Amino acid sequence: MAHPLSIAIAGGGIGGLTAALALARKGMDVQIFEKSSRFNPVGAGLQLSANALCVLDQLQVTGLRDAGLEIDHVRIRDGLSGKDLAQIPTPADPKTVVLSRSSLHECLWQAVQACPNILTVMDAALVDAQDNGTSVSLTTQSGTTASADVLIGADGVWSQTRASVSGTQPAYSGRMAWRAALPMDQVPSGIARDTVTLWLAPKAHLVTYPIDHGTSLNAVAFTQGDWNEQGWSAPGNRDEFSASFSPWTSVVQELIDIPDQWLKWALCGVSPTHNWTKGRIALLGDAAHAMVPFMAQGAAMSIEDGAILAQMLDCATPETVPAQLKTYEILRKSRVQRVWDQSFQQGRIYHMGGVMRLARNTAMRFGGDALGKRYNWIYDWRARSQQ
Ligand SMILES: Cc1cc2nc3c(=O)[nH]c(=O)nc-3n(C[C@H](O)[C@H](O)[C@H](O)COP(=O)(O)OP(=O)(O)OC[C@H]3O[C@@H](n4cnc5c(N)ncnc54)[C@H](O)[C@@H]3O)c2cc1C
Repeated sequence: MAHPLSIAIAGGGIGGLTAALALARKGMDVQIFEKSSRFNPVGAGLQLSANALCVLDQLQVTGLRDAGLEIDHVRIRDGLSGKDLAQIPTPADPKTVVLSRSSLHECLWQAVQACPNILTVMDAALVDAQDNGTSVSLTTQSGTTASADVLIGADGVWSQTRASVSGTQPAYSGRMAWRAALPMDQVPSGIARDTVTLWLAPKAHLVTYPIDHGTSLNAVAFTQGDWNEQGWSAPGNRDEFSASFSPWTSVVQELIDIPDQWLKWALCGVSPTHNWTKGRIALLGDAAHAMVPFMAQGAAMSIEDGAILAQMLDCATPETVPAQLKTYEILRKSRVQRVWDQSFQQGRIYHMGGVMRLARNTAMRFGGDALGKRYNWIYDWRARSQQ
């Protein structure tokens, strides 16, 4: 009998762990090389929509709903007046789950640890990968070397693996994100504690939702500006931040004053148009197509990628790996491009000012259920066999 394919994955983030599980469940031998010495996922919260949840459910990732909260709508409010603009229903089957990034990571990690054919190497930043035609050899920063039939670059927006595939660099989007988690008992009473609320105003918006079983409120604010440094957790300047929200409704200003510190990061994107695969090396998730987070779909796309990549490699032989990886890229690209474009467009809509803002608000007030149905093409996706 032929040996199962051996797969090396650079990056043990959401996309890397999901791909590892999907590949291992199909009998492949997987090694994950993770740069950090211990998992410490940064970023506060995530919304997991039906398209991603169905993949994780199928992979038997458990505990997601216990760790988070199921929601049935998104509330949209005007940030200046505080008025409600719309309540957009979210998919019912399965319901969207909001949870902290660390909870999602922990659920994935538990599932990975229970898989005998996944080996994880920590403190192992990939620094070089060479495709020699029949296998890929990789080297980590500490000098460890390994080889595999396939290398998957799931190493995030500042991917090292991407250098071996297309060399494309991330581009700054002109937007910054600021995040804080607030103990729920300190949250002002005018802020919803049981669902996602989007607050929209010119050149800025704010997203709030419960995490940690509803004991904390995740708050992420988005502003425009030129600051553009790598990393996820630079300390934010409170005066600069508060100034963006000074004309906002008082309940938002009250919320913004509560945390001792807001952490900021620059939102960068990688346009999906470049090559995601070359020979035996493939990219997935943010390494292939980092997007601005305004449709809350970046993690979901990396989860979908993992499911399809595993389907493609399930029917590959060592000789057909490059062709199967190319098919994965073709199958994923048009959908990811559409979500990527929609995320960008959504950011423009959220930050409208003047007459455009008033027109947007009116459309939202009278849009009703139709607003939610506009995005069914995202949430109704399922990882059915692509063969
Ligand atoms: C503010 C904000 C809110 C968001 N909200 C949502 C949301 O609600 N829903 C959603 O679906 N998405 C959301 N996203 C997007 C989502 O966080 C990302 O798309 C997702 O984390 C991408 O997963 P990934 O595995 O590709 O990359 P990452 O999660 O970045 O993981 C990359 C991993 O690779 C490791 N690594 C890096 N370099 C190397 C190397 N050289 N060698 C080995 N390992 C390496 C890193 O340490 C890390 O563990 C949001 C993003 C932002 C910025």
